[in-house]
Amino acid sequence: MIYEDYYIFTPGPVKMSKEILEIGAKQTPYFRNSEFSDVTFYCENYLLEMLNAPKNSRVIFLTASGTAGMESVVMNLLDVDDNALVVNGGGFGARFVDICNLHDINHFNLKVKDTNLSDIQKIAPQEKFNSLIVNAHETSVGHIYDLEAIGKYCKKNNLLYIVDAISMFVTDSLDMQKDSIDAVIVSSQKALALPPGLTMVVLSPKALEKVKDVKSLYFNFKDYLRDGQRGQTPYTPAVTIMLQLEARLKQIQKDGGVEKSIKKAKNLAEYFRQKIKPLPLVAFSKFMPNAMTTLAPTDGKSAFKIVEDLEKNYKVMVCPNGGELKDKIFRISHMGDMDEAYIDILINALFDYYENN
Ligand SMILES: *Cc1c(COP(=O)(O)O)cnc(C)c1O
Repeated sequence: MIYEDYYIFTPGPVKMSKEILEIGAKQTPYFRNSEFSDVTFYCENYLLEMLNAPKNSRVIFLTASGTAGMESVVMNLLDVDDNALVVNGGGFGARFVDICNLHDINHFNLKVKDTNLSDIQKIAPQEKFNSLIVNAHETSVGHIYDLEAIGKYCKKNNLLYIVDAISMFVTDSLDMQKDSIDAVIVSSQKALALPPGLTMVVLSPKALEKVKDVKSLYFNFKDYLRDGQRGQTPYTPAVTIMLQLEARLKQIQKDGGVEKSIKKAKNLAEYFRQKIKPLPLVAFSKFMPNAMTTLAPTDGKSAFKIVEDLEKNYKVMVCPNGGELKDKIFRISHMGDMDEAYIDILINALFDYYENN
């Protein structure tokens, strides 16, 4: 399959811009030099600025997919003496539960449905916790949580606040200082619109203090923090993706900053949701992020069949669900290099599909 021929609305990998693709086609340079350190420093500093991170926060660059960011954060910040409240609203929340189980971290599996946790003060169990873990946007169903309300709850109870922001960074707002967030995980292949393989862990001074000695060579944060002081990583970084990250961040900076990027995603999501109103499709969640729209057919059609037909007949790639939701919902990403004209292709395909099916 030649992906260039397809219209891409999957929530990662997402559509990349021409500029980013061109960097990917170039010879990978040597990286143990000051030129590459400067790339790392720029990326670290601008990421911290975009997140409004507290002073003296740090970024760790991992050559790995997002799950490695999730697991390494749990491994490096928590141990058997901790007790974590884990928000589980779907597949990615369940993954944090699995990680805590695997690493013997005491935790409470807070299964949530139909709430964005603005009521967390009321529904949180009375148990004593010292940390909270949440996927800001639960990508398996397209549901975004109220990071501010959760932040207030964490602040009040003095919890270490860990946020997986992988599928909402640069499309939905995220402010470490405002919401008292201590650790943020982001990854290259979602809204950053880069190839998969680079994951970033952002740690506030409070999180940095909690970094432990871990039984892992590759995921030992102390090594990354030490080498990061000179703009390097202990092991070969995803050099090309770092160069693509630098270009992507410079583009965001040039276009007016992360607020502009969020506004753009919001406008695109609203444009799409407005245009498809006449179709027999409803939003699956009351709490949709700008990053994605999850739709449920109301006329008995199989969601999975719609996904298949869009791909086969229109070269439009949207995302199916698995398990019991397979025939009930499908997902449309608004992340990546797109505009209204690009989204019109999907909208026209959906209208044409319903006219003929
Ligand atoms: C995509 C995603 C991840 C990371 O998945 P990988 O396949 O390991 O990159 C983690 N959390 C969320 C919320 C995601 O959307």
